[in-house]
Amino acid sequence: MESMTESHTPWRAPAGAFWSSTWRDAAETLAVVDAENGTVVGKVADCTPAEVDEAVRAVSAAVLNDEPWPVWRRREALHRAAGLLAERRDRFVELLSSEGCKPVRDAEREVQRAVETVRLSAEQADRLEGRTLPFGDTPRGANRVGWFTREPVGVVAAITPFNDPLNLVAHKVAPALIGGNGVVLKPAEQTPLTALAFLEVLLDAGVPAGRVAVLPGHGASVGAALVSHPLVDLVSFTGGWTSGNAVARSAGAKKTLMELGGLGAVIVLRDADIHRTAAAIVDGAFGNAGQNCLSVQRVFVAHERAEELVDLVVRGTRELLVGSKSERITDVGPLIDEPSAERVEAWVTEAVEAGARLQIGGKRDGAFYWPTVLTDVPAGSRVLGEEIFGPVVSIESFDRLDAAVDAINRSDYGLQAGVFTRDIDAALGVAQRLRVGAVMINDTGDYRIDAMPFGGGKRSGVGREGVPYAVEAMTEPKIIAIHHSA
Ligand code: NAD
Repeated sequence: MESMTESHTPWRAPAGAFWSSTWRDAAETLAVVDAENGTVVGKVADCTPAEVDEAVRAVSAAVLNDEPWPVWRRREALHRAAGLLAERRDRFVELLSSEGCKPVRDAEREVQRAVETVRLSAEQADRLEGRTLPFGDTPRGANRVGWFTREPVGVVAAITPFNDPLNLVAHKVAPALIGGNGVVLKPAEQTPLTALAFLEVLLDAGVPAGRVAVLPGHGASVGAALVSHPLVDLVSFTGGWTSGNAVARSAGAKKTLMELGGLGAVIVLRDADIHRTAAAIVDGAFGNAGQNCLSVQRVFVAHERAEELVDLVVRGTRELLVGSKSERITDVGPLIDEPSAERVEAWVTEAVEAGARLQIGGKRDGAFYWPTVLTDVPAGSRVLGEEIFGPVVSIESFDRLDAAVDAINRSDYGLQAGVFTRDIDAALGVAQRLRVGAVMINDTGDYRIDAMPFGGGKRSGVGREGVPYAVEAMTEPKIIAIHHSA
């Protein structure tokens, strides 16, 4: 890692947390560390359950008692926020690539997407409308007229992971605000600075300060206190399946949306454009060092093309530059911390000891793990059955397409998948049979736009995110009906 440079961040959070319209420093602090070199890039508050209680009560009171925040003002504020985010792009790129895992080019893409997410949220103002009710349809509707409007649910608790520290925060906070809610955000322990900088954007854009709170801290304390709070009306959680289960238990009977893990699979049919397929697999498996719920982890290829595909994927992998996040030439940065890289290393070692062939990679240095391609992985290996969240892809060949489809459907996860073929009938046949939230044809499952309904079943989540769908989930119909004289 000779090319590594000391990380620094010129932006300093005004304080370590924010609630009741006030920036706050807490007694206990949480150090934010750059995984690449161990540098402390900032300190934020390590909030307590008592502070969560205070914050939720304050946001709830603001939503109920402060002067109304009409839709046109929400739209204006979020449009301004999208503009400010674009203006402060360099600050966010630096934050994302110092506290997070992204090399600068990937960080730039995330900021661009977050600008779109906030803009899309502002535009949802046009969709916050209701309908008249069909009283004429039943004798019991005589002399009645009525309608419903879309109303905020109230207080949204947002909990986010480390791997997209800006865009995943934007995907929860901006839809909640355009829907007229208050939001209490607990960002990932590893990436709270980006969340605080995003809050600053919202406040500068004119979002009423009482309606938003950001409380950094640990999942088991701050997160659990937040989701179980009786004044929280909706929980929007993104993270791993184990944490999701804990959240479901703490939240109890409460509206809960969950975006959880994935085990991204790709099917490659005999007639696929193999160069294009290999390039997409390399990109989908190793972007953000595989720390992506959509990351490609398993590839099933028709046996006639297996050798060629493995060869091209290995060649593409060899060209990737592993190095410092701050360098524009870097393709693959570190994992979020050294224990994560050690876990990935252990799973690969276990597979290789059980008979898997290491085609390339398999090397670790601190938090860095080199992009790794495995073949001949024995059934039952963790690299095939559990979300690895690291830069490792396994390629398996199949004789019968049904076997590949069955293997994907038997997996515990069901987020997105890809199929590569020139035969549209075959592609649609596979797409219909796969039990996942989305099937991308001639793309890997590592593709999304922020306006699509995003999510999956099984261990991949409950409900759908994606701006219009999040706004719909974070608002509810409210009926007003009039019984009039004949
Ligand atoms: P994580 O589950 O460890 O943490 C996510 C968040 O949950 C953090 O803010 C954490 O503090 C909080 N948390 C943990 N335990 C909690 C509890 N008991 N109560 C309340 N909050 C709690 O996940 P991570 O390591 O930050 O992120 C990686 C995981 O996130 C992967 O599984 C990945 O697939 C998933 N993810 C999913 C999506 C998606 O949209 N489906 C997107 C990104 C990441």
